[in-house]
Amino acid sequence: IKKIAVFTSGGDSPGMNAAIRSVVRTCAYLGKECVGIYRGYQGMIEGDFKPMDARSVNNIINKGGTILKSARCEEFRTPEGRKKAHEQLMKEGIDAFVVIGGNGSFTGALKFTEEFGFPVIGIPGTIDNDILGSSYTIGFDTAINTVVEVIDKIRDTASSHNRLFFVEVMGRDVGHIALNAGVGAGAEEILIPEQNLGLERLLESLKRSKASGKSSSIVIVAEGDKIGKNVFQLKEYVEEHLPIYDVRVSVLGHMQRGGNPTCFDRVLASRMGVKAVESLLEGKSNLMVGIRDTKMVLTPLADAIKSHTEVDEELIRVSDIMTT
Ligand code: ATP
Repeated sequence: IKKIAVFTSGGDSPGMNAAIRSVVRTCAYLGKECVGIYRGYQGMIEGDFKPMDARSVNNIINKGGTILKSARCEEFRTPEGRKKAHEQLMKEGIDAFVVIGGNGSFTGALKFTEEFGFPVIGIPGTIDNDILGSSYTIGFDTAINTVVEVIDKIRDTASSHNRLFFVEVMGRDVGHIALNAGVGAGAEEILIPEQNLGLERLLESLKRSKASGKSSSIVIVAEGDKIGKNVFQLKEYVEEHLPIYDVRVSVLGHMQRGGNPTCFDRVLASRMGVKAVESLLEGKSNLMVGIRDTKMVLTPLADAIKSHTEVDEELIRVSDIMTT
């Protein structure tokens, strides 16, 4: 392997730049050429490539987003699209690639390597932390810190006005952001997709909280929670059934995807980039780099994309105890 490509794909996450930087600099360190591909698989199909040397990634370790841009690409889902992408890589003399992204991006990479025997390694970059084979994905730590910072501010105003706030955070299929940021910010209740708390229990919990002398409450709601109502419907429901509260809603939205990556995400991204390039040069392929018990580990892409991570029962228990 002489030339390695790197790109970001799917939803962006803070720390992707640090991962790009790491891949580029590891290639430079080991005397290999590196090529950046713009806009993920779309740019691969179009041949949107740029040679990258160690200096091309100056001053990006601290920046959110991705300098290589990200995209979703329908054409890559088709065998014809992947064939075009392969032709472009061959034309450029690229021998292997590192894909930084989530489950969908890894599924595409897996199909590609199965069809063309092309060496690929994945780096998990998503704020959702929903990838099997890694305790943490790049961007998750930054996202939960962003959420905690915002909830701290909401708490200030909530307690000044004796209000109840429903705060919606990202997480369509998994509640890792909600659960971790919820415990970190001292939320009263946390509604996640993996567990249906039930409306009755929510009302009971809020009643108990008020009776225990708490003047304000914050309930974190993951986008995909299973209680059957969105944050605005929850507000109406609680106002109707529990008129003791003045209820407000805050939807955090895309701010959770942005911002300067935390030190944890920068270090994680740097480690994963090194491991990805070294693994390719050791002749490994079809694997995802992950972290487990503070060590870098490799998981077959086929396993990484198989299913969602499990909810952390211990954290749920801690959250329950903390709201006493
Ligand atoms: P996130 O979920 O964090 O947004 P992701 O990598 O899962 O990230 P997706 O939009 O699911 O994001 O996938 C990114 C791209 O990967 C798609 O636009 C498509 O080009 C490619 N891809 C996804 N699924 C497949 C598939 N089944 N076959 C081929 N390519 C795929």
